[in-house]
Amino acid sequence: MGFFSKSAEKNSDNDSGNDKWKTKYLNLLDTQDLAEKAYKEDQELLCKTIVRLSIVASGFEPQLDPHLQRIRNHLKNGIDSHKLKAELEHFTDALARINDKPAADHPPLATDTGATPHSDEDISLLFGFLLQRYTSPTQQQALTQLQDNCLPLNNPQQLFAAIIEIIADTDSSNGLGVETHTQPTLAQHLIDSHFVNTQLLYLLEHIEIPETLTDKAQTLKQQLSSDAPTPSLETILDSVITLLIEISANNPPKQQEVDKFLVHITEQLTELGLAVTGSSIAVMDASRNRSKLDESVTEQMSDLHDRSMHATQLEPLKAVISSRIAQITQEIQEHKQKEAVQREKSQRQLDELSQKIKAMESETGELKSKLITANTHALRDALTDLPNRLAYDERLKIEIARWQRYHTPLCLIVWDIDHFKKINDEFGHQAGDKVLIHIARQFSEHARRSDFIARFGGEEFTMLLPHTNKQSAFKLAHHLRHSIEQSHVYANDHALSVTISCGITQFIKGDTHDTAFARADQALYRAKEQGRNQCCLG
Ligand code: GH3
Ligand code: MG
Ligand code: MG
Repeated sequence: MGFFSKSAEKNSDNDSGNDKWKTKYLNLLDTQDLAEKAYKEDQELLCKTIVRLSIVASGFEPQLDPHLQRIRNHLKNGIDSHKLKAELEHFTDALARINDKPAADHPPLATDTGATPHSDEDISLLFGFLLQRYTSPTQQQALTQLQDNCLPLNNPQQLFAAIIEIIADTDSSNGLGVETHTQPTLAQHLIDSHFVNTQLLYLLEHIEIPETLTDKAQTLKQQLSSDAPTPSLETILDSVITLLIEISANNPPKQQEVDKFLVHITEQLTELGLAVTGSSIAVMDASRNRSKLDESVTEQMSDLHDRSMHATQLEPLKAVISSRIAQITQEIQEHKQKEAVQREKSQRQLDELSQKIKAMESETGELKSKLITANTHALRDALTDLPNRLAYDERLKIEIARWQRYHTPLCLIVWDIDHFKKINDEFGHQAGDKVLIHIARQFSEHARRSDFIARFGGEEFTMLLPHTNKQSAFKLAHHLRHSIEQSHVYANDHALSVTISCGITQFIKGDTHDTAFARADQALYRAKEQGRNQCCLG
């Protein structure tokens, strides 16, 4: 029997196989979508943070306010780095122009007077941002209360202090003061359980497993197909590889090609495992970078707040705001660059992964066709090109099932060459082989299409005649025997004459192959006893 199971071969149209690959690709796409979503959320967060900064900065200097308003307008539709950069440069220029003027020209610091520099729209924007960002129930409640009570805004410092206090609560919950937007373990989970497990399961389902290892394989298959948490990637890879090695050790040497394939597929699986681990690390790195940025922005925000609280002069405060905005812009740019590098790296890894899957697919296809050829060879007798004993056994099962089901007559003929030993002895083994080939040809030429002829072993042949009763079978056998008797085999410059005898039987109620075969064999024995070159009914 071939190493790969029949179901794998028969499934050559491979519909279910394609579905499995499709599922894998879809899972990969899901993972990418997740990363994309996290990236977008992050961008949104950054926009809102800058909006918030611009709100903090507005109201101090009428000449700066239009710039800040424009920055906010730009950011409402997401970061467009070119426009944002240009706008920030205009802002910095405007700031520089103000700095060049004498200090007396400037209005006093808004917070010093208690006047409100912020529009209601700005404040609601700020609260909109905060409510989206800080989501614990207590924070949400506190923020809503604060928003309701702060308008009209009489004391921005108090407002900021209250906000900082509410926000600070997050510090105790996750230590960073920010929420984590990407769950690397989620991505990792997706890759691990669906992608690699499906791959391994596919492999295990398509190889023939020796009886001694079925329990082990079954446990592994269950682990791979269940929704319950499976052992780690390394453990499961290790178990599958160990099992594959054990399976190949159990196989006859002629399966070398399959063994090679297994070694190869094992190497590829290990590489797949490494690639998957690599992708997960890339996802985690990206998330870590984002957290760092969040942390930094939050820190700068509270620093800005502290300074605005304690500022007694406008000039230094303006300088701080300007430099902070520049710093944050730079960090956003750096973050975007890092993110782009990470995404490219992840993309490359995913590309490599799908390349490997494609290679494995074509390799499996090649191997399948090789195995089909090998199996065809395994079912044929090399000398006579007739179906061999194995093929006979398989066909027998089918014909017996058909006979039992439809009750159509079925006959069995057992043939044996007469005095074959003599031919070998007198003319040599090669002449004997020629006789075997000649008889096989005679049978094939004179039998009916529906008759199944096999070389049963040595100089014995068997025939299965479906839809044939014993009278018809006897006629056919007689015809075959006669045509062989009439023919000659040319070997060693001799025209050899050969005869053949047979026993015929029809399957009767309650028969198994053994009982029917025994009857045919007894009839053959009689044919020999009665002088050979004849057919007997049993
Ligand atoms: P009988 O009429 O009683 O059947 O006599 P026999 O000589 O045919 O009977 P026996 O079974 O003693 O001999 C069968 C011989 O067939 C013995 C074996 O050497 C020979 N034989 C079996 N397989 C092959 C083969 O593949 N090639 C050749 N040349 N000879 C074979
Ligand atoms: Mg014999
Ligand atoms: Mg014989």
